[in-house]
Amino acid sequence: MKLGIVGLPNVGKSTLFNAITQAGAESANYPFCTIEPNVGVVSVPDERLEKLKELYNSKKVVPTAIEFCDIAGLVRGASKGEGLGNKFLSHIREVDAIVHVVRCFEDPNVVHVDGSVDPLRDMETINLELIFSDIEILDRRIQKGSKAARADKALASELEFLKEILATLEDGKCVRTMEFNDDQKIFVDSLNLLTSKPVIYTTNVCEDDLADEAQNNAYVNIVREFASSEDAEVVVVCAQIEAEIAELDSDEEKQEFLETLGLEQSGLDKLIRSSYSLLGLMSYLTAGPQEIRAWTIKSGTKAPVAGGKIHSDIERGFIRAETIAFDDLIGVGTMSAAKDKGLVRLEGKEYIVKDGDVILFRFNV
Ligand code: GDP
Repeated sequence: MKLGIVGLPNVGKSTLFNAITQAGAESANYPFCTIEPNVGVVSVPDERLEKLKELYNSKKVVPTAIEFCDIAGLVRGASKGEGLGNKFLSHIREVDAIVHVVRCFEDPNVVHVDGSVDPLRDMETINLELIFSDIEILDRRIQKGSKAARADKALASELEFLKEILATLEDGKCVRTMEFNDDQKIFVDSLNLLTSKPVIYTTNVCEDDLADEAQNNAYVNIVREFASSEDAEVVVVCAQIEAEIAELDSDEEKQEFLETLGLEQSGLDKLIRSSYSLLGLMSYLTAGPQEIRAWTIKSGTKAPVAGGKIHSDIERGFIRAETIAFDDLIGVGTMSAAKDKGLVRLEGKEYIVKDGDVILFRFNV
């Protein structure tokens, strides 16, 4: 799962991205992740893992991870090829969701590309570039299909639908503001439009605004209002503070620092959690004396496919999933007590895995 960080120049993207790479997960555990200078891999915070580690007396904990990709260079005119624009837009096409950083801090020492702090204008500037790029794609597709549609009814209705989307874009609105039925949604996903991707507006505020979630920051409230019109989420961070947190060595130091700021969790952790739920993701867990590990799945995933995340052999040779809910296991204290009480279920290949299931897969090799 990959998230792309976008935003105008000087809003704090690199500062946030550097905090992400500093906080970065040990890459040896995630061979599937792309290792490139503009990609940072972070672990998804999950308190359940430490509890299981105690229970199993395990050697280590391996959280699940997501990737953040720094997509710098998006400026006004990008969709017209301004400043390498199209290259950046193609990077956005590859991500599952967008983290749109919006400047909500005042600082006379940090110039704004458009001369003033104005989150609404900034969000619209970036969104417009993405909208232009989507319009281009739809225009091409409609042109290509127009002739054939005269003889093909299905194609004709597809074209009508594409025109409806085009009209929304031409109205300056993102595709994610539209409502679709299930079939339409599958079709829209296949178009891979930039403005249909889920987005988290990430407001970069000054340190003083953190403790009360920037309730009194007028800029952030503008972002909140705009985001609610799109059904999008807002996360409040202070990129500079995130950079400072990332430099601390131990978790205890981080915790202490957060407490002095009056915070329960870092902005980065909030962002990671929001991204995870925005993408409809959840974790199941595997536990043993060697390691406790979280595995990411989409909600609705059946047991064999979930097992396939560990190894393709498990999916191919799936027999059953010995499953217990995390809370049940912690409630009784040991796996054998859980078995005695009949809390460990034997689930078959139609079982839909739930968040927090602790699973042992049985399979043929
Ligand atoms: P980018 O162009 O969006 O990647 O922005 P940068 O991360 O390079 O930040 C631009 C400038 O703003 C740098 O000088 C940062 O130190 C500064 N900056 C970033 N975040 C904050 C913040 O939260 N508060 C303040 N006052 N300055 C910040």
